[in-house]
Amino acid sequence: MNIILLGPPGAGKGTQARKLVDERGMIQLSTGDMLREARSSGTEMGKRVAEVMDRGDLVTDEIVIGLIEEKLAGEQGGGFIFDGFPRTLAQADALEALLDKLGQKLDAVIEMRVDDEALVARITGRFTCGNCGEVYHDALKPTAEPGKCDVCGSTDMKRRADDNEESLRQRLMEYYKKTSPLIGYYYAKGTLSRVDGLAEIDEVSDAVRAALAKA
Ligand code: AMP
Repeated sequence: MNIILLGPPGAGKGTQARKLVDERGMIQLSTGDMLREARSSGTEMGKRVAEVMDRGDLVTDEIVIGLIEEKLAGEQGGGFIFDGFPRTLAQADALEALLDKLGQKLDAVIEMRVDDEALVARITGRFTCGNCGEVYHDALKPTAEPGKCDVCGSTDMKRRADDNEESLRQRLMEYYKKTSPLIGYYYAKGTLSRVDGLAEIDEVSDAVRAALAKA
């Protein structure tokens, strides 16, 4: 089963994707993670995208489609969770063509709906474990012991350079201008389900499971 988690920054896509990986052995393909990896490896492409990401703008379709194409060719089994991809109609078309080439299809698109004001609070308090990727929040989901990951015990906690209010405003603008048209597109295709991204994490997971059972 191949699915897309769609929603604005801070909607909880990454958190839910990680749960699906644990529960179902699916493969999470996050273009944001791929781009952060590229920028930290200091490649030419990484340097070019770093500035764009910090501003909160979208990286070009060509780059992200290339990244996804590379990953799809190298991974097998379990089904894919597309997290943060596609973000434009051109990316949606490219994804369909890439899956088609592999003899696969998209089974479900889950829109995670969240109120914009809540996003600011969520994003500005967010941090992740640099070792295992577990996502935390200063107020909503703190670590049990300050600065220490509950899952793997690492003390290497990271905050994203673009998780500040100014970048978030721009990321939201990009979302509404370029990504939100995908909601109508997938609705028309009959693959869209909606879940309330503001509910408790486990309740959101239940809603995601229910949506996938219907797909
Ligand atoms: P994310 O981790 O999904 O919030 O992505 C972080 C940043 O990476 C975004 O604000 C964009 O600059 C860039 N990015 C991630 N995925 C895409 C995509 N599919 N298309 C264009 N830019 C992307």
